[in-house]
Amino acid sequence: MDDKCISVVIPAYNEEEVIRQCYDALTDVMLDSNYPYELVFVNDGSKDRTMSILDELARLDEHIRIINFARNFGHQAAVTAGINLSKGDCVVIIDADLQDPPQVILEMLEKWEEGYEVVYGKRRHRKGETLFKLASASLFYRFLQRMSDTHIPRDTGDFRLIDRKVVHVFNRLTERNKFIRGIISWIGFNQTFVEYDRSERLAGTTKYPLRKMLAFASDGIFSFSSKPLKLITRMGMLTVVLAFIVLVYSLCAKLLGLPEVERGWTSIMMAITLFSGVQMLSLGVIGQYIARIYDESKNRPQYIVRETVHYPHEEVHANP
Ligand code: UDP
Ligand code: MG
Repeated sequence: MDDKCISVVIPAYNEEEVIRQCYDALTDVMLDSNYPYELVFVNDGSKDRTMSILDELARLDEHIRIINFARNFGHQAAVTAGINLSKGDCVVIIDADLQDPPQVILEMLEKWEEGYEVVYGKRRHRKGETLFKLASASLFYRFLQRMSDTHIPRDTGDFRLIDRKVVHVFNRLTERNKFIRGIISWIGFNQTFVEYDRSERLAGTTKYPLRKMLAFASDGIFSFSSKPLKLITRMGMLTVVLAFIVLVYSLCAKLLGLPEVERGWTSIMMAITLFSGVQMLSLGVIGQYIARIYDESKNRPQYIVRETVHYPHEEVHANP
């Protein structure tokens, strides 16, 4: 047991109010577990004192490693960096705000010892979330299920344990705008879950404003399936059928001399607005895919590391 090392990856963006308690709670749990461990904190361009607090903690504790980003690259990039640079035989991903109870890590480790390679946390209850967040999340995961070709378990976040084998595969995937929970399901291996109650954020406010939530949701949908393209193709076919019916009707009306002109305005307006809407929507969907191709073809790094703490020298410039 003792020769296996555990890495815990903690993305943190403006978490000065909770980072210390987070460190304490994780340290308690990891000491309890009796495994050697490292705590990989990824400072995602915080504008508050998160980094200086982490620096202070790192001076006192060799278990802490810090990856400091050059700017805010987002939650998923931070988790990616943490996984890329972790050394453990398994990696646990957990939020800094202690919404995911650290004690659950012990249950995950048990499952891991049983031979599972991915153990994800499944939320039984979510406390302290707004009704809007609950409803939108529920709707999103249902929609994602229908849209995606990969089975992505419902009610799970990024709180999970992954074995080194999965980490190896993960590290070879260079795609940008990652949707990590989907990628890990897609990778496969033996997966299981432990259930837990998600509590309230310990302090501070959510770092996921609506804008980031939407970007995250579209990554989930457009990076995992081409079904939206099939959907607009079907919409196009439906439109053609509809257009044909209208065409036949208009021609007949004309030839039979029906007074179609008086009633024409409403139907023309309806047709123009509806179909221009459908066209814009379809262009938008296609645009989403093109933007992703564009992003990939630029081949820029997924994140830029300004500095690292407690990493061997050769890894300091660890940009992928
Ligand atoms: N986070 C991050 N970069 C960001 C936004 C969030 O590293 O741009 C981190 C944040 O510090 C936290 C985790 O991602 O550890 C989840 O964020 P948050 O708790 O705000 O999301 P919520 O739980 O409200 O969905
Ligand atoms: Mg949170």
